[in-house]
Amino acid sequence: MTDARRLTPGPEITTGGHRGTAWSNWSGAVRGVADRLLTPGTTEQLREVVLDDGARARGISVVGSGHSYANLVAPAGRTLVDLRNHRGVVAVDPTAMTVTVKAGTTMRELNWELAAAGFALPNQSAIDEQTVAGVVATATHGSSPKQGTLSSHVVSARILTADGQVRAITQDDPELDGVRVHLGCLGVVLDLTFAIVPGHRLRKVVVRRPLPDVLASLDDFREVHFGGFWWYPHTSQAIVWSAAPTDEPHTSSPGPPGALLSKLCNNSWPPRVAGAAHYAAALAASTGGVQVTRCDDALLHHLPPPVQGTEYSVPFGQAADAIRALVREVRRGGLRISAPVDVRFTAADSAWLSPSRRGITCHIGVTHPVPARGSRMWIAPLRAVDSVLWNFEGRPHWAKVHFRTGQELAARYPEWSRFQELRRAWDPDGVFLGSHLRNLFEL
Ligand SMILES: Cc1cc2nc3c(=O)[nH]c(=O)nc-3n(C[C@H](O)[C@H](O)[C@H](O)COP(=O)(O)OP(=O)(O)OC[C@H]3O[C@@H](n4cnc5c(N)ncnc54)[C@H](O)[C@@H]3O)c2cc1C
Repeated sequence: MTDARRLTPGPEITTGGHRGTAWSNWSGAVRGVADRLLTPGTTEQLREVVLDDGARARGISVVGSGHSYANLVAPAGRTLVDLRNHRGVVAVDPTAMTVTVKAGTTMRELNWELAAAGFALPNQSAIDEQTVAGVVATATHGSSPKQGTLSSHVVSARILTADGQVRAITQDDPELDGVRVHLGCLGVVLDLTFAIVPGHRLRKVVVRRPLPDVLASLDDFREVHFGGFWWYPHTSQAIVWSAAPTDEPHTSSPGPPGALLSKLCNNSWPPRVAGAAHYAAALAASTGGVQVTRCDDALLHHLPPPVQGTEYSVPFGQAADAIRALVREVRRGGLRISAPVDVRFTAADSAWLSPSRRGITCHIGVTHPVPARGSRMWIAPLRAVDSVLWNFEGRPHWAKVHFRTGQELAARYPEWSRFQELRRAWDPDGVFLGSHLRNLFEL
C-alpha cells in the first residue's frame, strides 16, 4: 500500500446549503431545520455522536453533498453529521488495483487524486460533486451496459453502526451486497475501497438522430463500451453519445456550449415555445462531434441550474416502449419538463437494493426546474412521469423523486426483507432512519 496522499484542490464544488442548523439539499426543494449540524473528523468523534443519548433520541442523518432530490437526509429536528472533515484518499494499492477513500471525499477529489497517480475509477455518474459514500448509498450509476451501478465497484467498506462498533465488510461477507446501496440507514460509512483501472483516455462521439430511429435500433446500446442518449422533449430530436478507450491524442475541442444549453433546456415554458428552444438546444448539443479526453472528463457533464428530478430504471427489453409511452404522455399532458430526458444503461449488479439487479437496465431520467427555493411546480409533471414509467416494471432511483409506497417497492425488490433484517440488526432503534425512509421501510 502507498502512503496517504494529499488532496489535490479541484474547482469549487457546489453542495447543499447549511446555515446554522437550517439545511437544504442542492436544489433547495428539500429543506428543514435540524437540531444540530456537526462536522466530526475522526472515528472517535463520530462514535461520540452516535452514542450520544440526545442525538440518538432525535435521530442521526449523515449528509454528503446534498445532491439527492429525495428527502433521504430528512433534516427536520435531527442531528446532522457532515463528513467534510473526514476526507481524503487513504491508500492506492496498485497490486490489488484498489483505492481506499474516506467517506466524505467528493468524487471530484477522488478523480483528481487517482489521475495524478495514473489510475481512474471504472465509471462516472454525470457529475462529480457528490461524496463517495453518497454516490454508493443511492445506487448512483453512469452509462455502460458492461458495468453495474457505481456501488458495484466497491470491494470493501468500514461502517460505524448504532452500537458504536466499527464493522469491516469485505468481499467474503454476504452483507457487502446489503452495504453497497445503504441509503444512509445502516450507520455512518467511514471509508470505502473501490476497484480502479489504469488511467486512460476515451474517444467520445456525439451525433444527432431522430428519436424513432434511435428507439428502433436500441439493441445497438448493448454493444457500446459507454453510451446513451438524450431526448429533447417536445421535439423528435435525440443526441446519441458513445465513448470507448483510445490511444489517440487528447483533442482540444471545447465541447458544446454548456451555459447556452442550460438556458435553452431548463425551463418550464409552454410546449410550443419549449419545442423551439429544445430543438435549438439539440442542434447546439450536437456540435460536440468527436472528442478525446481523460476518461473521467469524457463521462462528466456540467452542473445544471437547480432542478428536481425523477428517474426510473426499467428492464432493457421494456425500454423502447417505456420511452414511447413517455413521449405520448408529454404530448398529451403538455408536460413542462426540462430538456433533455436522459437515457442510460447499466449491466446487472448484485446489490440487494440496486435497481439494476435484474439484468441490463435502462434508466430514464426527467428533470423540472426549481426556479425559486421551495418552489413546488415540479410535483405535478414528475408525478405524471412516475405514473407512466412505473407501468414498465420500473424501479425509481433512490435519490430522486418518486410517488411510491414501501409496499409497492418491496414487491419489486426480491431482497427487500434481507435488507430490512440487516438494517434492524445494525440499527434496532432506527436511529439512522429519517422520515422519508421510515415511511417506506415501515410500510
Ligand atoms: C445534478 C445532478 C446530477 C446527478 N447525476 C446522477 C447520475 O449521473 N447518476 C445517478 O445515478 N445519480 C445522479 N445524481 C444523484 C446523486 O448521485 C445522488 O443523489 C447521490 O446520492 C448524491 O450524493 P451526495 O454526496 O450528495 O449525498 P446526499 O444526497 O447528501 O446523501 C445521499 C444519502 O447518502 C447518505 N450518506 C451520505 N454520506 C454517508 C455516510 N458517510 N454514511 C452513511 N450515509 C451517508 C445520506 O444519509 C443519504 O441517505 C445526480 C444528482 C444531481 C443533483
